[in-house]
Amino acid sequence: MTRRLYENDSYITEFTATVLSCTAAEILEETNAGGAEATCDDAKAAVDSAEAADNGDAAYYWVALDQTAFFPEGGGQNPDTGRLDEHPVVDVQIKGDTVWHKTTLLAEPGQIVAGCIDWEKRFSNMQQHSGEHIFSGLVHRHFGYNNVGFHLGSSVVTMDFSGPLTATDIDRIEWEVNDAIIKNVPITVAYPDKEALATMEYRSKIDIEGQVRLVTVEGYDVCACCAPHVARTGEIGGLKVVDSQKYKGGTRVSILCGFRMLRDYRQKQALVTEISRSLSAPVEKVDAAVRRQLDENARLRQVIYEMQEQMILEDIEAIEPGRENVWFFKEEMDAAAMRRTMNRALEKVSGCCGVFCGSDDDGYKYIIGSKSRDARELAGVLKSAVGARGGGSAQMIQGFAGVSRDKLETVLPE
Ligand SMILES: [Zn+2]
Repeated sequence: MTRRLYENDSYITEFTATVLSCTAAEILEETNAGGAEATCDDAKAAVDSAEAADNGDAAYYWVALDQTAFFPEGGGQNPDTGRLDEHPVVDVQIKGDTVWHKTTLLAEPGQIVAGCIDWEKRFSNMQQHSGEHIFSGLVHRHFGYNNVGFHLGSSVVTMDFSGPLTATDIDRIEWEVNDAIIKNVPITVAYPDKEALATMEYRSKIDIEGQVRLVTVEGYDVCACCAPHVARTGEIGGLKVVDSQKYKGGTRVSILCGFRMLRDYRQKQALVTEISRSLSAPVEKVDAAVRRQLDENARLRQVIYEMQEQMILEDIEAIEPGRENVWFFKEEMDAAAMRRTMNRALEKVSGCCGVFCGSDDDGYKYIIGSKSRDARELAGVLKSAVGARGGGSAQMIQGFAGVSRDKLETVLPE
């Protein structure tokens, strides 16, 4: 059994502990692989340690301690990382009452070790998780929905609510959460007994064995939770919703708190500044500038279409009556115009029509239609004579020939 220091003090970053047990990673993972508690993370850990072995890197062990400040993976939150003595701790899992640390330290039972958690990562997780509690608490208060899915990884935090939320609803909750952050109210932990719990209202009220740990954000939320939280809401630093979408009949909301929010703001600021510069538009008007560019692109596409139509018309007019085959060579023409040229030319010839687009240096894309013979035969001829790629149906083939126009003209039928 491991005493879990993070449950009563989420600010402990360093501790000493006695090793209870140390086992090769494979043994713990094999034991769990067949059991009901096996998770994808067990599989991931097994792969990691297999890779380490492949690379000839140091092997990993799972170390159990009599007490720890490391928060294990659980309840949708990723585990703490850090060090035991000088050895990295890359994963932390809880099995029953024991917390296991995945590390390169090969420890002896009874050995004293110094633990140190990666505080930057831990504090960020505390900010996100406390922000999530306030958000979920307010959604529950205003709409009665439950948070039925929570994921706290290394990027955005997602919460799945059991009912629909409009953009206006989400804006309102987001504002209220930030108001709660500014009010800097305490976040406290309590362990009420069974009788007291039975009379209390709190979120995540499910029958669990053992002691229930209640996390209270004063005036905003009470929720059963085992994770570390900040001591006052001000430390969350701010909360921003970055995405929301319909999800399984409810709503998935993605949030960022604290420095993660600041990083995201910086990235978006850089993007909008870049767009603003490249379009020579003020930042607050980039949306209109982008729309203007899209409209202009559509207009230019139409101009190109009309110019190509004119060219096609002239080409078709120029076909001498009674011709069997006709071949066009173009420098610039889009695929749709090549096809239109071919189709219209076929109305004026008795045999084949091909359109080649490109240059002697870069080769030619081609499309060939035939009224008189199987066009696939022509694909065969082009392939054997000049190494062209391509194929299609009896009526039409298309492909690419990496040779000069002169060379192609010697191969194509008159
Ligand atoms: Zn929680």
